[in-house]
Amino acid sequence: MTPDQQNTPLALIVDDDAVNRLMARAALESAGWSVEEAENGREALAAFQQLHPDVVLLDIMMPEMDGFAACAALRKLPEGEHTPILIMTGLDDYGSITQAYDAGATDFLTKPLNGLLLTHRVRYIVRSSRVLQELQASRASLAQARDAALEGTRLKSEFLGTVSHEIRTPMNGILGMTELLQDTSLTPEQRDYADTIRTSGEALLLIVNDILDFSKFDSGNLQLEEVDFDVNRLLVDIVGLFQERARSKEVKLSCVIQAQLPTWLHGDSGRLRQILNNLLANAVKFTERGEIVVRADVEETPAKQHPLDSELPARLTHVTGRTGHLVSVRFSVSDTGIGIAKEACARIFQPFVQADGSTTRIHGGTGLGLAICQQLVELMGGSISVDSTPGRGSVFQFTVPFDPKTE
Ligand code: ADP
Repeated sequence: MTPDQQNTPLALIVDDDAVNRLMARAALESAGWSVEEAENGREALAAFQQLHPDVVLLDIMMPEMDGFAACAALRKLPEGEHTPILIMTGLDDYGSITQAYDAGATDFLTKPLNGLLLTHRVRYIVRSSRVLQELQASRASLAQARDAALEGTRLKSEFLGTVSHEIRTPMNGILGMTELLQDTSLTPEQRDYADTIRTSGEALLLIVNDILDFSKFDSGNLQLEEVDFDVNRLLVDIVGLFQERARSKEVKLSCVIQAQLPTWLHGDSGRLRQILNNLLANAVKFTERGEIVVRADVEETPAKQHPLDSELPARLTHVTGRTGHLVSVRFSVSDTGIGIAKEACARIFQPFVQADGSTTRIHGGTGLGLAICQQLVELMGGSISVDSTPGRGSVFQFTVPFDPKTE
């Protein structure tokens, strides 16, 4: 084959009628095609496997193997799966056209052949079949890349989970031993060192726990637990934990629980505690003066009020706090701290994102807290949002449906 022939597209004409072959050859050659011929289906199959043509023009009525059988046989060859096949048929032979498509033909041409129409049709179907092949190939490679990325993420999460878990055991040992050490008689200097070991250890354990939780979300391994719990007590406990820190910053910290809120709820109290803990820790961290208020209210009409109402479970639409059905509770943590810029509000629920890089240097943190809060709230069937004004403060609020206490 000359280099010139290598670049010229090749058509295989299959027809037992020499005049038809001649007409088709003349039209295609004048349009710059190379042409090979076969006189029946069997010859066509052999020529196809040897030459790998870019297009096949196939007559129907031929001795030994007709066009339909040849077309079906070509489609079964690995190289023939995508090659365009044009069936040449009589003008009013509609039955043949249907049969040709059933056998795998790409399109049809009517006889007597019109040279101009033939070359245009051939050019068009070759071009569209190439585009189709490219599309299929890129779809396949995209799917492959997506599968590889998903598998990579799964392995990464699994690895993160294992590492965090392994770090927790020795960390607990360090913390336990430090606690024992603090109970012994120490010089003021030694006590100072032991205190620092303990606070640093506790901070590290919090980070490790966050990473462990986050990896559980990523690998879909986080399960909620269900218990009956006293929500008033839970709120008072959490607020109590932060009183000391708030007082040291001259920030007033209070808790307002709406009277209609049922005392006992049924759900994952540990995870609810974790969410409130994260929000409150942030509020205290980012507020230097003023006040922080934690509120809990029964959400009367969640389907109307909530921005994500369409995503709330359908059962919530008939929720009230007094009927004994599900209770939708809205928790909020408001502060008078540094606030968050509008454009950052949308980002801060993403993992590892902080509103402002400079706060990382001052306050530390991993940017995982809010991402975990959002995932937990959504796992519980609720939603979370923030409303904030830079320099004036922020309100984080989330709404979660709870079963009332089981009898
Ligand atoms: P981090 O561990 O960094 O605090 P979070 O996911 O809890 O991670 O918070 C992400 C970022 O959102 C914080 O770094 C901070 O920039 C911003 N942010 C969260 N809560 C507040 C708040 N109450 N006031 C001001 N900024 C906040």
